[in-house]
Amino acid sequence: MKINNNFNNIQESYLFSTIARKTNEFKTAHPDVNVIRLGIGDVTKPLCSQVIKELHSAVDDMSRAESFRGYGPEQGYDFLKEELVKYYAKKKVSLDNNEIFISDGAKSDIGNILDLFDKDNVVLIPDPVYPVYVDTNTMAGRKILFMDANGENGFLPVPDDSVKADIIYLCSPNNPTGAVYDYEKLKMWVDYANKNDAVILFDAAYECFVEGDDLPTSIYQIEGAKSCAIEFCSFSKTAGFTGTRCGYTVVPFDIVKEDTSLNKMWLRRQTTKFNGVPYIVQKGAAAVFSDEGQNEIKEAIVYYKENAKIMADALDKLGISYTGGKNSPYIWLKCPNGMSSWEFFDFMLEKANVVGTPGAGFGKNGEGYFRLTAFNNRENTIEAMERITKAINSL
Ligand code: PLP
Repeated sequence: MKINNNFNNIQESYLFSTIARKTNEFKTAHPDVNVIRLGIGDVTKPLCSQVIKELHSAVDDMSRAESFRGYGPEQGYDFLKEELVKYYAKKKVSLDNNEIFISDGAKSDIGNILDLFDKDNVVLIPDPVYPVYVDTNTMAGRKILFMDANGENGFLPVPDDSVKADIIYLCSPNNPTGAVYDYEKLKMWVDYANKNDAVILFDAAYECFVEGDDLPTSIYQIEGAKSCAIEFCSFSKTAGFTGTRCGYTVVPFDIVKEDTSLNKMWLRRQTTKFNGVPYIVQKGAAAVFSDEGQNEIKEAIVYYKENAKIMADALDKLGISYTGGKNSPYIWLKCPNGMSSWEFFDFMLEKANVVGTPGAGFGKNGEGYFRLTAFNNRENTIEAMERITKAINSL
């Protein structure tokens, strides 16, 4: 018996465990201090009332033989996929029901999609990055090339024709940098992928934070994307489903590689290895698209975005540069006075009693940067920014 030794190549993630250890040590030494967490990547607002109502009613369905549901379609119920088709139509993207696959969240699908690709592919991943892209490919023993996302390119790298990649990861709005691709830059990626016979794996988990029509919220708003891009999305940040678990992946019929439809491959993969998302959860997710549901989830998103604005305004006043905060729940700031990410973490914890996430934990280009999130409540966000302002002004 041989284990998959690629697991030995995955870097141990010390980021969140080190944050927790340092925070706990500080709290033990200063039990009376109220430490505010602006590092959380999880939502804090509860599910909206429309979703709760539908969840209850779906539970009742399960109690009656005539409405009970057992195994459902592995790729999701039509009632939810039809809502998504309409949602995409509003973005002027036309999808077929069977191009949409309901999942238990974007993370699983982002990992599982790799079943479709040979080990012998060159993978291109931005740095800094959501660590799942790197770790899932490392587990599979794939070669990874990194592309620099940095201050010079506004954390939005564009294709380099001298680099030959087969699988490209893009995340917009980005975690951790909050940067958002515009139509022009995304078109460069779509053109590159079509020219090089590559596939783009587009992570749109934060699309609901984009304001107005000036920026794309789906890669399919770019001409040519349907023949090269798979899109992952989620109800996690859109509607607070981080604990309820529901997401979706779009695999267009037009992506055909080596005479094989990736849509057919993904359907085969899902029907073999996945038995679907619970009926109850899918009913709750469908309620997000009712008029009341849309109003309620938008209210929560506006709330988080107002937090982000409070944070951004405070940084503007301090003259600290950052990306994100406008079309994203994340703010990615340059640590002041040339501090490293961890030096700034310690400074924030000790002087402002605020916890954030050191950028260095997301890749080498994250060094010297720091991530704040808008998911705390209003009161804590205001207080945290007051404390940060005072601490930085004292430098
Ligand atoms: N993609 C990105 C960029 C994320 O930041 C996250 C969660 O934080 C996910 C995907 C995972 O989302 P889900 O909860 O749907 O698995």
